[in-house]
Amino acid sequence: MEVGKRIERAGGAVDQPASSVERFRQCVHGEVVLPVDAGYERARKVWNGAIDRRPAMIVYCADANDVIEAVDFARSGNYVVAVRSGGHNVAGLSVCDQGIVIDLSRMKRIEVDPVRRIARAEAGLNLGEFDAATQAHGLATTMGVNSDTGIAGLTLGGGFGKLARKHGLTCDNLIAAEIVTADGQLHRASASENTDLFWGVRGGGGNFGIVTAFEYRLHPVGPMILAGSVSYPYGQARDAMRFYRDFSGNAPDELSLDAALVTAPSGEQFFSVSACYIGPLALGERVIGQLREYGTPVESRFGPVPYLQIQTASDGIFPRGRRYYWKAQFLGELTDTAIDTMLSVYANAPSVSSLLVLQQVGGAIARMSKSETPYVNRDALYDCFPISIWDDPADDDLNIRWARDVWEAVKPFSTGGVYANNLGEEGEDRVRSAYGENYPRLMELKKRYDPTNFFRLNQNVRPAPR
Ligand SMILES: Cc1cc2nc3c(=O)[nH]c(=O)nc-3n(C[C@H](O)[C@H](O)[C@H](O)COP(=O)(O)OP(=O)(O)OC[C@H]3O[C@@H](n4cnc5c(N)ncnc54)[C@H](O)[C@@H]3O)c2cc1C
Repeated sequence: MEVGKRIERAGGAVDQPASSVERFRQCVHGEVVLPVDAGYERARKVWNGAIDRRPAMIVYCADANDVIEAVDFARSGNYVVAVRSGGHNVAGLSVCDQGIVIDLSRMKRIEVDPVRRIARAEAGLNLGEFDAATQAHGLATTMGVNSDTGIAGLTLGGGFGKLARKHGLTCDNLIAAEIVTADGQLHRASASENTDLFWGVRGGGGNFGIVTAFEYRLHPVGPMILAGSVSYPYGQARDAMRFYRDFSGNAPDELSLDAALVTAPSGEQFFSVSACYIGPLALGERVIGQLREYGTPVESRFGPVPYLQIQTASDGIFPRGRRYYWKAQFLGELTDTAIDTMLSVYANAPSVSSLLVLQQVGGAIARMSKSETPYVNRDALYDCFPISIWDDPADDDLNIRWARDVWEAVKPFSTGGVYANNLGEEGEDRVRSAYGENYPRLMELKKRYDPTNFFRLNQNVRPAPR
């Protein structure tokens, strides 16, 4: 059987006899899927259809106990481990060839305490499920823009979205995490328990163990907020982008302004801004007024909408199974030359589905000190990334090359920093760019909690030398 295959690793290779696989299968409450099983083809898929890997085993954990069993089994068999929650990592780091995928996507319990404004959420929830459960009480915390994304990967790498400028990153709203470390022990990390680990999980990704549940601080949000979008033809895009820069630069924390260069199915290109105001509706009308009145847009739609609707508004752009590639970097400003460069490189996009995105950050994110959590790029104003989206594997090279070329062209305007959650498999230097001055502390923490680098299919921080 596949799981008996030899897997080469630094520590040597070990065969796993079929009997021990059977024993393991019986001691987990969830499901173990092997290549011979009917559900294997579906189970090995992740969000990005360009990823095609064949793990030796997929363990759908039902509870924290299953996670412990899976970690112990993988460690004793010397298997490579991938950890999967929402399966959204763009480079497919949550699935591997030959090794074991420890999947938490069926762990979806959530308890909301509306009085204390706290939610305890298991790691398998996606953003849509989390938002629905918390909005049932008129509450929310920062989550991303695509409801199919997992809360786990998003939180562990930072997490920004429409609420971040007002309420901080998702990881800034983390109160506690329950985490299984490489030795198979379950810990609780919070401001008063395992404080070093608590520091590490607020941005340090999956480096220190497998988080089984998160506890978040919630805020009153909605249920109705003011939101909408406006699109300008490419001929007006240069001026509209300059206006966007000035308008977003003066935006209050309640206002989040993402923007993108986009292409219609006809091939016509546009600059589009989406605005979301989470304060009082009447005040929002005044704040957004200037944007509504600017230029001669081809489309302009604003009005009160349910927060939950906004949180799913981008879902259609990023369906599971299409082919995706992106390369991101933070910008500290949007100069005239940067704008001209973006307009010129986007014009050559080989696929009508591809985008050049500016996701606005700043606000409350920037007011926290850089050493408070591993997430260091707090002074950035925009996360800028070309997103290649296509379907035919024959077009892989063309689309990947375009995104890389765009990234290179924009690089002179970058802060040099990158968001860990938007990294692909880009090497150690880029991981260092995600963590900057916090990198040495992460290495020390890695040495303490994962000295053999058992959890290494991630934005990997190497353990500090002994
Ligand atoms: C369409 C789309 C939209 C996005 N929008 C946003 C956005 O608006 N804001 C934003 O901040 N990010 C956004 N992202 C990036 C997103 O935060 C990352 O892709 C994130 O890793 C997704 O989490 P996941 O659980 O789905 O990932 P997975 O692919 O399941 O996991 C990614 C990595 O996270 C780690 N991991 C996952 N689960 C666990 C766990 N339980 N314990 C320990 N480690 C774990 C592992 O290292 C794994 O390799 C977006 C991504 C996509 C694809």
